[in-house]
Amino acid sequence: MSKKKVVLMSTGGTIVSSGESATQTTGYRLGELSINALLDQLPDLKDRIELEQEAVSHIDSSSMTSEIWLKLARHVQTAVDRDDVDAVVITHGTDTMEETAYFLHLILKTEKPVVFTGAMRPATALSADGILNLYNAFQVALDNQSKGLGVLMVLNNTIGSARFSTKTNTTNVATFSGLNTGDLGSVIDNAVMYFNHSTRPHTMATPFSVHDFDANESFPRVDILLSHADDDARLVDACVAIGAKGIVFAGLGNGCVPEKVLPGIERASKAGVRVIRSSRVFTGPVFNGLSEWKEAGMIDAWNLSAAKARVLLLLALKKGITDIDTLREMFERY
Ligand code: ASP
Repeated sequence: MSKKKVVLMSTGGTIVSSGESATQTTGYRLGELSINALLDQLPDLKDRIELEQEAVSHIDSSSMTSEIWLKLARHVQTAVDRDDVDAVVITHGTDTMEETAYFLHLILKTEKPVVFTGAMRPATALSADGILNLYNAFQVALDNQSKGLGVLMVLNNTIGSARFSTKTNTTNVATFSGLNTGDLGSVIDNAVMYFNHSTRPHTMATPFSVHDFDANESFPRVDILLSHADDDARLVDACVAIGAKGIVFAGLGNGCVPEKVLPGIERASKAGVRVIRSSRVFTGPVFNGLSEWKEAGMIDAWNLSAAKARVLLLLALKKGITDIDTLREMFERY
């Protein structure tokens, strides 16, 4: 049987970080360790895969930028456009993995498996989870069932969709979960099992493509504001003053907007800034709500988290989509 070709793209993160001792699982740093140190330890991989590697970045994903997203997306698109490449695996820090994965889920044009993985414990830790996660990511990438599902996230034996999977715990290896919808499946030993699929359009069925944007182009500023008791309009005004073209307002409950915040949102909308109404609550959709929120130009996020709503808004604004009704349709659809 001929081997499948997989391109492994590394971006940094805990999976290649080192602690000062085997018991250190917080406060470690990204150092010289490369993904090769993990690859060398993977059982039977060389017999099954023809591997090609690219280092796209070497950063803690808490410092991720939309410029690196675009660079990564271009690299992945180039790889999957090649006839000899079967799948792409991406190693990434867990902090912003769900945002990067959703960016690729919306922009890539491919049916080939694109699988993210990472680790919650540094490579030096007792029970480091990176190696098994990497092994399982390859297993999912090699499996024909993984085609056409959009971008996948494989950690802790679980296969999540980039659309829904979110980091839920600061330190636990069982951190990623599709809170609103569940996960897509599991990978255990040599068995890749799917139980669900996402009905939301992705990859081939979106209007976005890496070819829409020049390399190294910057994205418009889009800020996220998390609401709370005592909230008022000053931070909304500040976002507009520093040049935001979009704001994701993570409101209370079902996206409720405090009375004192609303005048700021009206001012922002009048100035052409697009404001998404999401929630600081972890699950449940944000839609309907008071007529004055809609009249102020707010766009409902439905069940996109604030971080993922920001990704969709960034792409839409970058593509020049600013019409409020068009954006409303997009947020309901994707
Ligand atoms: N801070 C790390 C990162 O996101 C956390 C991790 O990878 O688990 O790069």
